[in-house]
Amino acid sequence: MIDQATIDALRREAVPPQLHFVGGDRQSGLGDATLDVTSPIHGSAITTIAAGTGEDVDRAVAAARRSFGSGSWSRAEPAFRKRTLHRIADLVAENAEELAVLGTRDNGTEIRMSYGSEPGTASATFRHSAECVDRLCGEIAPTGPDVLGLIQRVPVGVVGVIVPWNAPLMITAWKVSAALAVGNSVVLKPADEASLTVLRLAGICAGAGLPEGVLNVVTGSGSVVGEAISRHMDVDVLAFTGSGAIGRRILAASAESNTKRVYLELGGKSPNIVLADVPDLAAAAAISANAFFGNAGEFCVAPSRLLVEEGIHDDFLARVVEHARSTRVGDPLDLASQMGAINNTAQMRTIADFVDGAPSDGATVATGGTAMLEETGGNYFAPTVVASVSPNSRLFREEVFGPVLAVTPFRTEEEAVRLANATVYGLAACVWTADAGRAHRMIAGINAGVVQVNSIGRMDIVAPLGGVKQSGNGVDKSLHAFDKYLDCKTAWLHN
Ligand code: NAP
Ligand code: MG
Repeated sequence: MIDQATIDALRREAVPPQLHFVGGDRQSGLGDATLDVTSPIHGSAITTIAAGTGEDVDRAVAAARRSFGSGSWSRAEPAFRKRTLHRIADLVAENAEELAVLGTRDNGTEIRMSYGSEPGTASATFRHSAECVDRLCGEIAPTGPDVLGLIQRVPVGVVGVIVPWNAPLMITAWKVSAALAVGNSVVLKPADEASLTVLRLAGICAGAGLPEGVLNVVTGSGSVVGEAISRHMDVDVLAFTGSGAIGRRILAASAESNTKRVYLELGGKSPNIVLADVPDLAAAAAISANAFFGNAGEFCVAPSRLLVEEGIHDDFLARVVEHARSTRVGDPLDLASQMGAINNTAQMRTIADFVDGAPSDGATVATGGTAMLEETGGNYFAPTVVASVSPNSRLFREEVFGPVLAVTPFRTEEEAVRLANATVYGLAACVWTADAGRAHRMIAGINAGVVQVNSIGRMDIVAPLGGVKQSGNGVDKSLHAFDKYLDCKTAWLHN
């Protein structure tokens, strides 16, 4: 774990104005506009990023296409790709302290989480992708003796990647390392609210020997840079994590341009179901609260709807409220802080709006509900628990993406499953029960990409993460992640 003295030294380092990363090097934008990077820790600007244009995207896509056509990476020996991705994993790990502090200054995630979940996970993800490079094989079709049918898995070409601000390095690594492992070139747009570590990663990749033009980063706003990538006629596949509203725009942009394949990870409103036979009620309450308030609830898989069986509801609610009240909120670069800053002021308004609307839907704010530490100039919101949340209310159905936990009682196992499925989302879920049969029934009944039983947190690289319904399509992580970035090409070799 990183220590406080190291954090305090790194947090004072000046961050020079940031450029795009195109064709293997830092590049000024073709226009000269910039965007201020404001830290949610104190509300002051820490540097600028280039405000990219459509022409910057054209230049990056051209560099990606050139590198793909050259074969410097797309047709390189798997051993070279494997070595390079391992080297990237090494360098991310070697620079973990710098990356974690820079990322927290940019997006506000508490350092005790970001150190492990950002550079830590990114490094592990590049290593996993490196290990998969020479294990992904094609197939031979079952034909008669007159012909040989080869089913080849070939890279799609140029992959566009658009990522959000909540865990920029981790989400980038999930998509980019998989796309690179199978030989693609990439054009990547980070969120304007969290671009710094992603740009640093691009430099690390070049330093590790990734050939020029294989990974390109264009910064700037989604409505310009993101839109240009989505509409580009020479981007073959687009992988996106973010909101449902933008996911829909990207699908429309694909339809209106070159019908590029689009993969979406659009968040959720994940149910955390506690049955009366929960094996250890106190532990379940602690884990549920900690898992939710980490990163201030700004996780797509956050267990944001707590459904509790009636007989234990009041006891469980009281314990969760107690955990919320004792969660230490503060400077995310203080190792003692258990919850840091909300990423941006628009998100602060969204969170407050959900809380303010809850009483008129019949709910009760049991704790929190207000901004705090306003004297710092940063974005801080109290850990909030809202009880008696009606299944018909906005707070039950919509993603807040902030530290507002919605609690709803239920009577029966059947009702719990029905409530769990009563949103447009289907990303993650959790079930607490001592009855294995019940656990199996609930896993079968809940329509979600991931269901955890009797704990929250096992989300490592070995298994896929992806949603159903309006949580999206396609998966990140595991061997299944590579499918998104590969085409099938059939060759018939006739005798
Ligand atoms: P967002 O608005 O969906 O943005 C995600 C990414 O898409 C950012 O890089 C954004 O760029 C870009 N973008 C914006 N407009 C675009 C467009 N027209 N075409 C293409 N790309 C575009 O999400 P956000 O601003 O980060 O957060 C808003 C909400 O999204 C949250 O409240 C939460 O509900 C959801 N969210 C979900 C996840 C998840 O893991 N599923 C993660 C983060 C957020 P800029 O931001 O630079 O403009
Ligand atoms: Mg944004």
